[in-house]
Amino acid sequence: MAERNPTREEEFLVQQHAYRVNAFQFIHKMLTWCQTNETKLLMDEMLHSIFFLAKICSVPFAPEEIIPDNSMLQALLEKYPKPVRHLSQFPKRTPFSSVLDMVLLKEEPENEARVRRSLQDIVTSLEATFPVSSTVCISQNTRDPSSRRHYGVSMSTTGCNPRGLMIAASCCGPWDDYVAGAVMTFLSNKRKKRTTPEFDGAFKLPEYVRCEAFDISTGERKAPCRSCGNMFGLPTEEIKEWPYGNCAEAESVSNLLKHESEVKTDVIIPSPTGTDERRKRVQHDVCDKLKDVVRNVPLQFNWRGDFYTA
Ligand SMILES: [Zn+2]
Repeated sequence: MAERNPTREEEFLVQQHAYRVNAFQFIHKMLTWCQTNETKLLMDEMLHSIFFLAKICSVPFAPEEIIPDNSMLQALLEKYPKPVRHLSQFPKRTPFSSVLDMVLLKEEPENEARVRRSLQDIVTSLEATFPVSSTVCISQNTRDPSSRRHYGVSMSTTGCNPRGLMIAASCCGPWDDYVAGAVMTFLSNKRKKRTTPEFDGAFKLPEYVRCEAFDISTGERKAPCRSCGNMFGLPTEEIKEWPYGNCAEAESVSNLLKHESEVKTDVIIPSPTGTDERRKRVQHDVCDKLKDVVRNVPLQFNWRGDFYTA
């Protein structure tokens, strides 16, 4: 007898089961891995991000579906009551980005090898794909060899829908405005054409900036993809284009530009249309569109443009 293809609903259920198991395994791991008081806020932020992403994915699931053991869930909610009460606020970043900061609290940020090993230990001890990031990126002003490292991880979301929403939301506030501008230039466009002819916020980082990405599991260096080449002027031979804003480079470069005014002054935006005023207009449109998207089915929530703070 020929095998029957699974229906869409059955596929959804399988997918949902995998996400739930992954999310549970991930939360459990981080709760046992990190028990210091200073990480409580990061844990709170991470939980909010996980619950929020679970809520907006194509097969939504509630916290009680992630943690089916009721006493365990109650204990968690007692310790971290805020995240579930604020699920109509967007997280500022994906869960693994909070994990990265937990690692940076434990290890010296300038000791890249240790930071990367610590991230690798977490990732390889889990079977989970969500909410684990695959790549870490480090940006640095090389004019001063002892300068601060600015880390970032790739978007750890559960699929296209949440990824697109998180990227759009990141452009509406959390990211540095230049990074947001570069991402928005390509946002609704899968084919390298720019969003509007009136705005092109792609920029070129100064040559003295080092921006290097690594596969977290294997430790191998990863060349920037074509999208990151187009947005930030990173030299690359790569033709693969990841969705604009998905890569670890976006968060890392955003952290660099937010903290290093000298580097930001040296950034070049080649297009005369990449002005602050036009960027703000595009940003306004992106935020309005995002509010519309989440107001409609299947999400149906009112987003006021605010972000969760732990
Ligand atoms: Zn990229």
